[in-house]
Amino acid sequence: MKSFIFGHTASQLPIPAYRFGNENGTRVLILGGVHGDEIEGVWAGYGLLRAFSESFPFNLNLTLVPAFNLDGVLKKDRRNNRGVDLNRNLPTKDWSPEIATERYHPGTAPNSEPENQALVKFLDAEKPRYILSLHSWKPMLNINGDCRAEAEAIARETGYIIEETIGYPTPGCLGSYAGLERSMPTLTYEIERGLDQKSILDIHVPAIFKSMKVSEGRK
Ligand SMILES: [Zn+2]
Repeated sequence: MKSFIFGHTASQLPIPAYRFGNENGTRVLILGGVHGDEIEGVWAGYGLLRAFSESFPFNLNLTLVPAFNLDGVLKKDRRNNRGVDLNRNLPTKDWSPEIATERYHPGTAPNSEPENQALVKFLDAEKPRYILSLHSWKPMLNINGDCRAEAEAIARETGYIIEETIGYPTPGCLGSYAGLERSMPTLTYEIERGLDQKSILDIHVPAIFKSMKVSEGRK
C-alpha cells in the first residue's frame, strides 16, 4: 500500500488517499465522505482501509479516499468549508447555479471547489473503470453506467435494492459526471442512515470486499 495526498480541501487540509494492488490491474476509485455528515460512508471507507491493508487478493489498481470531503467530515456538515455540496458542483452537462436550498448549494461555478478540482484531475489522469462512492440515506445501490454486476454482488450480501435513479434530479453529481458522461460506471452506495458502526464493519465492508472480485474483469 502506498499513501499519497489526493488534493487539498477548501481550508487547505491535505486529503489522504491510499493505493492498493498493482499498476496493471483494473483501475478502481473508492470515495467515502463526499457528504461530511454521512459518517456511515466514512466508517465504511476506513473499514475498507483496514480490510485491504490486511489482505488484497485482487488484480486491481485501487485508490481509496476514505474522507474525501475532509472539512465537512470534521465539521459534521454535508458541504465543504465554503458551504458547497460537492455532489452538486461537478462540471456536468446539467450543472445549474440554482440554489434549491443551502444544503444543496452547487457553488458559484461548475467545479469551483478545490476538492472537486482534485477529483476531476484524478479522473482525467487515471480513468478508473469503476467508481464506488459511499454515502448514507435510505438503503439503496444507485447505479450510473454499467456496474450492475458489482451492485448485485453487494445486494446478495446486504439485501439492498438496486436503482438507476434516486427519484429526484441531482445536477452536478458524480454519477452523472463520471458514470453517464465519461463511461466510468459509478455506484453510489447509500448505507442505511444511522446504522451502527459494528454493522457497517461486519456487513457492508465484507460485502464491498467481495464485490471487488467482480471488478477485476473490467477492461
Ligand atoms: Zn450523500
